[in-house]
Amino acid sequence: MSGLEATGAGRPEISLVVPVYNEEEAIPLFLERVTPIIEQISPRWEMVFVNDGSSDRTFSVLREANRQDSRVKILDFSRNFGKEIALTAGIDHSTGRAVVPIDVDLQDPPELIVEMVAKWREGYDVVLAARKDRSSDSWAKRSTASAFYRVMGRLSSVDIPSNVGDFRLMDRRAVEVLCQYRERQRFMKGLFASLGFRQVVVEYARPERSAGETKFRPLRLWGLALEGIISFSTTPLKIWTYIGASCALISTLYMLWIIGKTLVLGNPVPGYASLMTVMLFMNGIMLTGLGVIGEYVARIFNEVKARPLYIVREQIGLDEGQTEPRLSDDDAPSRYGSRRA
Ligand code: UDP
Ligand code: MG
Repeated sequence: MSGLEATGAGRPEISLVVPVYNEEEAIPLFLERVTPIIEQISPRWEMVFVNDGSSDRTFSVLREANRQDSRVKILDFSRNFGKEIALTAGIDHSTGRAVVPIDVDLQDPPELIVEMVAKWREGYDVVLAARKDRSSDSWAKRSTASAFYRVMGRLSSVDIPSNVGDFRLMDRRAVEVLCQYRERQRFMKGLFASLGFRQVVVEYARPERSAGETKFRPLRLWGLALEGIISFSTTPLKIWTYIGASCALISTLYMLWIIGKTLVLGNPVPGYASLMTVMLFMNGIMLTGLGVIGEYVARIFNEVKARPLYIVREQIGLDEGQTEPRLSDDDAPSRYGSRRA
């Protein structure tokens, strides 16, 4: 095992964190392509694969890879928790001085890691990989993504760089801070962005998937976008004060006009149409407002329950017999999936 590699003097230089969900075909391709590249940077590397509740042979493929090279380590989830959580768990358990989250489908070109490490050695703490063009994505995905970044930029004080994914290099210092963010609703791009540190961007063109197919359906992407906005902005919550006030103002003016008209012209019982319109409109507005509040309340509910972020079924190659994330030397053990109580 890698007891020496994982801690102390033999601590890995680079950790790759790779979330995998039903990727039995993509993993061998990934290892074949990435291993020589990372080996050339430093032989002291580790790859932390997080098996996010795959239902295919992903786990046995990973175990085979671990047998061949103990620097391939596995965190096996009890079920599917989603990429954001899988990434979190992998980062929690990584020990390298620099950590690089990377997709297994080779859409994050591993050659770029060389460039990232060079920047890191120059003294940058965070090296972002930005997509130069997204021609491998569909038109719909591109346009919705750009709309999302625009809305997000308007609503949130955290500046989320556009066209930057989870692919990046983080120094241990940034990782330590990230590990203290234990919120359950995780929008990784936003969390990453809120860290700060000395950042630099390198650009790349995003290639097609190497094998298998995308795990993100439109509905899931919508969920992710909503997560981003709601986790990093309270504007949608606050805006209702102004919408409500404007409606009240307009209603008051309308009321005065009706009263005046009735006094002058008498009341020939009109108004069914206007009454109906106002009622439907107001109900629509109120329900929308309630829905937005509901989104926030639901998130508060989830956070308050304070359940573990993820459940590890088995871990291979990572510090054995320890279900909690690896703790830094002077830390007292805390609960499952949570570094600090
Ligand atoms: N993934 C995961 N859990 C999920 C969905 C995806 O760990 O529930 C992993 C997947 O195996 C891949 C990465 O997240 O390594 C990116 O997924 P994908 O390529 O499907 O997303 P896209 O590139 O289309 O955004
Ligand atoms: Mg992909």
